[in-house]
Amino acid sequence: MTAAMYTANYGLRTGIVERMMGGASIINIEKIDNFPGFPEGISGAELGPAVQQQAMNAGANFIMGETTGITKDGDYQVVASDAGNLQAKSVIIAAGSTLRQLGIPGEEEFFGRGVSQCATCDGPLYMNQAVAVVGGGDSAADEALTLTEYCERVLLVHRRDELRAQKSLIERVSANRKIEVVWNTVIEEILGDNTVSGLRLRNTVTNMENAIELSGLFVYVGLEPNSGLVDGLLKTDNAGHIPTNVSMETEVPGIYAVGDLRQNSSSQLVSAAGDGATAAVAAFKYISSKSW
Ligand code: NAP
Repeated sequence: MTAAMYTANYGLRTGIVERMMGGASIINIEKIDNFPGFPEGISGAELGPAVQQQAMNAGANFIMGETTGITKDGDYQVVASDAGNLQAKSVIIAAGSTLRQLGIPGEEEFFGRGVSQCATCDGPLYMNQAVAVVGGGDSAADEALTLTEYCERVLLVHRRDELRAQKSLIERVSANRKIEVVWNTVIEEILGDNTVSGLRLRNTVTNMENAIELSGLFVYVGLEPNSGLVDGLLKTDNAGHIPTNVSMETEVPGIYAVGDLRQNSSSQLVSAAGDGATAAVAAFKYISSKSW
């Protein structure tokens, strides 16, 4: 949306194709503490629509649709979506990523019935109950903290003996009496009948297994880039990220990749916005430099 705001401000006719809503997964973040300009933090539900409005005020058109592929048509690119085909002189791909799943027994079966990937949306369902969060990164730490607003007890299950989350989050997790970190532990199985009733855990050091009772599991074990839409058009690295140069240019002239989706992204909201602005400047120069 930042890229769209910039290209629209440059006077380029700009469409944003979005399958969900402005802000996408950021909408579900209860408090964003590290976006510059908001010293008290801001919720994703406020920030997402605000940036969308800013892009639309600049003149960008918001098009609801799921992009299914991007192809070349001479000097033009064609973005295919269920809203129809759009022909464009340039495309900035900002499709982000999807939360990874564990792939363990019970995860798919109980998804939406005790297994969740949205603490803000589903946390209130577990008022005064015990839940677990799996993962050791910023997402797991952030969402465990969010869950303490609703739940009586939050187990943070991590496979190693050290969190990889940023120091400020680790300090807040350590200081929160509702959170208990379960170190060196993996979840072997999610237990339950109609809904989740517990987890079967295995200690990775001793190999000992035990079962615990709780009502919900929140899975935050990393991100998968949404790069399937460039299959056959752009190469990705082994992890599925799109290589770019410092101007966010991909191997195909006129196509840019920004945010989580690009190789070596720092996966931060502010750097994704910065990538968007960088790509928009480059796209404007590219379009202006050619005779169409
Ligand atoms: P992440 O940093 O990749 O961390 C994933 C965590 O899940 C790691 O601790 C990893 O363990 C664990 N894990 C991965 N596969 C697992 C498995 N199969 N079983 C058990 N545990 C598993 O992902 P993230 O926390 O979603 O963060 C992604 C990016 O978004 C990061 O760059 C982060 O900084 C950013 N982010 C920032 C904020 C913020 O600034 N407040 C909030 C959310 C996300 P190991 O540690 O052993 O590898």
